[in-house]
Amino acid sequence: MTIPVLISLAVLALAVGLFVFRAIPGIRAYFNYRGKRLITCPETHKAEAVDVAAGEAAVGGFLSEPTLRLRECSRWPERQDCGQECLQQIEIDPVNCLVWNIVAKWYEEKSCSFCHKPIGPLRHLDHAPAVLGPDFKTAEWREFRPERLPDVFSTHQPVCWNCHVAETFRRLHPGLVVDRAVEPKRTM
Ligand SMILES: [Zn+2]
Repeated sequence: MTIPVLISLAVLALAVGLFVFRAIPGIRAYFNYRGKRLITCPETHKAEAVDVAAGEAAVGGFLSEPTLRLRECSRWPERQDCGQECLQQIEIDPVNCLVWNIVAKWYEEKSCSFCHKPIGPLRHLDHAPAVLGPDFKTAEWREFRPERLPDVFSTHQPVCWNCHVAETFRRLHPGLVVDRAVEPKRTM
């Protein structure tokens, strides 16, 4: 290998290294800020659901110019021209305001109101657990608008997915369900 080729390779490696070095804060910003979050709106003092423009935050991280802006808010389009002061809450604690983390924390160490089995940790690929409302109807937590979840969690009870399916069937087809008492095990 000739010296000019070696120099070219060294320059290329340096350029790639520099690019990766600059890209890391951008990639980190993207993963830090993606996802639906709940904040307390400084105007209404109520929970609202927002999305940060994670792509822009990533570009800002790459250019070493942190840029945080909302991409979506449950008060839009009516209040699309607000000052986005709620972003401070996200900057202070980007993890605990993620809807997924709020939901996971609520189900943590809770048991199903019907079968009393632990709900277990929330997983993206599993069936979503549900809640039992004051009207005795069950619904998956994903069926609620995210900004309603704090209220839902204060008035509803946790229900596992299996019991939610069984209770929904029982509610929709009461004539098809026969409740049988569990027979005790025969020992002889
Ligand atoms: Zn259950």
